[in-house]
Amino acid sequence: MIYLGALEAGGTKMVLSRLDENGGMLERTSMPTETPEITLPAMIEWFLAHPVTALGIGSFGPVDLRRDSPTYGYITRTPKLAWRDAPLLPVLRDALAIPVGLDTDVNAAAMAEAELGAAKGLDSCLYVTIGTGVGGGLVIDGKPVHGLTHPELGHQLLRPDPRDPMPQGSCPYHEGCLEGLAAGPSLQKRWGRPAWELPPDHVAWDIEAGYLAQMCHNAIMSFSPEKIILGGGVMQQDFLIPMVREKTVALLGGYLAHPAVEDGLKDLIVAPGLGIHSGVMGAWLLAKRAIGQ
Ligand code: ADP
Ligand code: ZN
Repeated sequence: MIYLGALEAGGTKMVLSRLDENGGMLERTSMPTETPEITLPAMIEWFLAHPVTALGIGSFGPVDLRRDSPTYGYITRTPKLAWRDAPLLPVLRDALAIPVGLDTDVNAAAMAEAELGAAKGLDSCLYVTIGTGVGGGLVIDGKPVHGLTHPELGHQLLRPDPRDPMPQGSCPYHEGCLEGLAAGPSLQKRWGRPAWELPPDHVAWDIEAGYLAQMCHNAIMSFSPEKIILGGGVMQQDFLIPMVREKTVALLGGYLAHPAVEDGLKDLIVAPGLGIHSGVMGAWLLAKRAIGQ
């Protein structure tokens, strides 16, 4: 039996798992993301106590994914300052002396959804998480898209809603980007209470669904994905998905003649098929691929 390690590296917490070769969960732990000096040795210690043949990392970003780069596997320009330029992959790979696979957290989740979840059997899907931030992973022809660096879908610019009291959003880099307008902390900042305390009939949700619909419209027009999968903490408000579908249909404006649109996008814009497990299964797939499986 081969054991595989999965690391879901987040800006708030690190989730470490050991799984078997069939994806069965064996052990799992989590630790807060403190500084690299504290957290990297703690993760190494855990994986030495729970040995694995290979490790897969789905990481928060931005992260350097260019294999020929001297800083491959480093976190780069993160707003989480202690982790800026932190050598996440090389430190783990050298200490554990095993093959390590890496992608963004959302590309990993998109891969898992494409192989095992809501987009199983399809060639393409977009996975978007709306949580502490907004990120998107794109799989095309069965492969996660990296391109120049990796997509940063959360930082696309949107058209502000005239009813929005905070139309500039809260991203330190961009005025009016999706993450700054639609992530959980942005909802809290705008409305003065946590997102989960806003009642379903609050105008906040109509505005939120509108921003997510603009993203879906842009994604459909840019990439033509066969599924758009919406996950993350904010999407726990399950009345949101139907609102996003309806508003996306309206934004498409009848331009796209396809049965998926006639069907109200019911099969195109969906919740994750793997529930909250897309991230860990994505990291597990990266570990498998690191040893050629
Ligand atoms: P992360 O993005 O850190 O990986 P999550 O996807 O769970 O984690 O997102 C956490 C954010 O999602 C919280 O900051 C909060 O704003 C929002 N959130 C969490 N639970 C809910 C909920 N039930 N309804 C709406 N928003 C929520
Ligand atoms: Zn931004």
